[in-house]
Amino acid sequence: MRKSNHSLKKPMSIFTLVALISIFFASSCNAEKTELEKFLNRIEIQYEQISIELGTAYWNFYSGEAEADLVAPKNKYYDLLTNDTLNSYIDTWYPKRSEVKDTLLRRRIEVWHNTLLSAKVEYDAEIMKLRNELEEMLKVTDDNNNNTDDFSTKMLTLIKLRNKKAQELGFDNYVHLSFDNNGLGYTWFTNFVEKLDKETLESYKTLVEKTKAEKQISEFDQRNAFQYIGMFYANNTPPEPEKNNIDLVKESLANIGIDYTNLPAKLVEKQLPAGVGGQGIMLNIPYDFRAVMTLGMDISVWMHEMGHGLHGLYNSINSPILEGYEWIPGNGAPAFSEGMAETSAGFTRNDEWLKKYTSLTDEDIKKRQEIMNTYAPAFIRYHLSNFVKEMELYLYPEKSYEEIQTEVAKKYMLIETDKIRTQDLKNIIYVSYPLYLQNYLIADIVACQIHQTLEEKFGSNYAFNKEVGSYLQQFYIGGEYYTWQQRMVNGTGKELDVDSYLKFYHIK
Ligand SMILES: [Zn+2]
Repeated sequence: MRKSNHSLKKPMSIFTLVALISIFFASSCNAEKTELEKFLNRIEIQYEQISIELGTAYWNFYSGEAEADLVAPKNKYYDLLTNDTLNSYIDTWYPKRSEVKDTLLRRRIEVWHNTLLSAKVEYDAEIMKLRNELEEMLKVTDDNNNNTDDFSTKMLTLIKLRNKKAQELGFDNYVHLSFDNNGLGYTWFTNFVEKLDKETLESYKTLVEKTKAEKQISEFDQRNAFQYIGMFYANNTPPEPEKNNIDLVKESLANIGIDYTNLPAKLVEKQLPAGVGGQGIMLNIPYDFRAVMTLGMDISVWMHEMGHGLHGLYNSINSPILEGYEWIPGNGAPAFSEGMAETSAGFTRNDEWLKKYTSLTDEDIKKRQEIMNTYAPAFIRYHLSNFVKEMELYLYPEKSYEEIQTEVAKKYMLIETDKIRTQDLKNIIYVSYPLYLQNYLIADIVACQIHQTLEEKFGSNYAFNKEVGSYLQQFYIGGEYYTWQQRMVNGTGKELDVDSYLKFYHIK
């Protein structure tokens, strides 16, 4: 028997105490974490189910294959996204997400945070009701001759409501909220716009002066500017190939080692609402992709939509929130999604592809590139003016849309006359995809960067290299687990490279 020695018994050391407390907290933290994970697993199954229903409804809306019930799935989204337990879990975990060691769970928390934030605006009861009403007014029907004034008034109300909601959530306005939530960041984006404006201004001015001298006009007008854009697009679009579009999509994919017939994809052609060239929808990621193209679209539009399909069909992340369904703005990085679509479209602008499928010769292709280089500053500035005019509707609610368009035309297109043909607000993008238009310019830069990488890695004949398809898959597989900047770095070695883009068009 050992003698107990009360007098020598020391109190627990501070060190041991701290260690025990932290073990206690760590295990209670782990328990909480497991609870969170279980909860998210359950909620994401529901989230995916509703996303599939809404995707199906939008497919019917665009394709006209069946009656489109957009309202029922949106109501289900509403219930799910305003769920108190979900919101309180994310509100608790988002600020301390750096403590979550499991990086997949950490990313789910981040993406849920963004999704819930944008849902607080788009799924606000009043906003949702108005948006549904406006979408209904835009549906393509035989007896659709809606009053434009009525539409504009309602559209302006929607803009006001989005701003008001964003302010309630602590943002200056809806533009700030949207850009802090779409993967771009408001500051990054304003720098991006300023840079492109600055870098293209001199060459654009030179172009304008040259036109004025040649045409002997004293004022540069909107029609002159539109001619530039027309020249750019005419030379950027492949001339009518000999094969029909769907066969050419299949063949272009086969050339890079992707078998279209094995993909759960369906492409159809049908008249779409004004302003929409094509609409590709991932109904169920990664199992069901469909796209509808409006009549008379060229192969690059078909390949663009197919690119949305490749992006979704090769996604193999095991968490619905990281699959990046497009129905809630904060759930994905739309600039990158459009970039994936344009990367696919980019094959139809590839020299070797053009030589094989169109009547263009080396000489023609060279000439087309020179014309594009000449008009690229106009093309870039046209994009700037296009999205800035929508942004300004939110930033300067006191200004009329006509006023904004006139100012923007002067600033970016250097229009010198006061006579400017303006557009009305009747545009489905403004209703369903607010502040989305910049994604098309960023997409062009993403595609340019990826095609440059493909050329470096696989040589000038890369559009006919069977390994290219699997190389591209690295951009798709991880879904939203990686930020879009990380995905660019992984695939091209760098983040979005605006300078290389400007150099490509000989602007810099
Ligand atoms: Zn697209």
